[in-house]
Amino acid sequence: MPSSKILVIYTGGTIGMVEDPETGALSPVDFEHLTDQIPEIRKFKCHIDSISYDPIIDSSNMEPAVWVRLAKLIEERYEAYDGFVILHGSDTMAYTASALSFMLENLSKPVILTGSQLPIGMIRTDGKENFITAIEIAAAKKDGRAMVPEVCIYFEYQLYRGNRTHKHNAEHFEAFHSDNYPVLAEAGVRIKYNEPAIHKATDQEFRIFTGMDNDIAVLTLFPGISRQVVFSILSIEGLKAVVLETYGSGNAMTADWFKEIIRDATERDLIIYNVTQCRGGAVMQGKYETSAWLEDAGVISGHDITTEAAITKLMYLLGNGYSTSRVKKYLSKSLRGEMSV
Ligand code: ASP
Repeated sequence: MPSSKILVIYTGGTIGMVEDPETGALSPVDFEHLTDQIPEIRKFKCHIDSISYDPIIDSSNMEPAVWVRLAKLIEERYEAYDGFVILHGSDTMAYTASALSFMLENLSKPVILTGSQLPIGMIRTDGKENFITAIEIAAAKKDGRAMVPEVCIYFEYQLYRGNRTHKHNAEHFEAFHSDNYPVLAEAGVRIKYNEPAIHKATDQEFRIFTGMDNDIAVLTLFPGISRQVVFSILSIEGLKAVVLETYGSGNAMTADWFKEIIRDATERDLIIYNVTQCRGGAVMQGKYETSAWLEDAGVISGHDITTEAAITKLMYLLGNGYSTSRVKKYLSKSLRGEMSV
């Protein structure tokens, strides 16, 4: 392996926890203790530096302010390193990966998020393999250029495009899925890269965006959802956009009260982004009568975007202060490979 320089950023999560031998309780340890559990890491030919968050967090406490800290850290060290590995809890890893994919503009270096289902101090841990291979992928180059110049999640032998993933299992080692986009690499005896699926780096100058706007809500439809719930959410003061989680290929009920509330909202310039509750497949507004009216009402199709990517894409676009029509235009396009359009 060429002598790449990798920065490991440790934010917390199960990977960094050790079990108290007496009580069995899990508690986080600092990075020094974490690497003590993986002596293999010293055998890497690449140079590895690390930064630990203080305090380290369970990723359920993730918030945009932490994404901003991560983006700034990467910006500060961008020139000094060839790649970045972020150790992160798995619970909100897909959100962080999606957010960073938008916030890190013109990225030409790997940013690989990983973590584990079992703490690194446990004998059966998945953390060691995840961590070691994530470093190897972050350091990988071809013709002097990063092999994977994008924000990814590496988990259980698979490398995924970060903004295509979701956590699908709370117990299996294979915790993540990317239903609408192929894996970028698979780690077996060798790491096999799926080169045609990997984003090509641009030569444009890297910069970060830090003004994420969280004036958004998610409204998940279910049979029996009341008028009051829909109305209350769409009437929240200051709300700028809603991710509407619909059924199947983007379908919603056709009750008059529901249509009226949605039409009234879009007329008030509230942005409604239609994302399917299914994890695989895409919204196709107009395929059924139950979705054709959404198109007419000015609801924007999210195609095959994940809810995690839809939320963070909206935060990014709204934070840019674009006009409603410009936000809608960008919502229909793929900005970072988050949709197949
Ligand atoms: N609750 C933990 C976290 O997301 C779970 C994990 O790391 O897998 O931080």
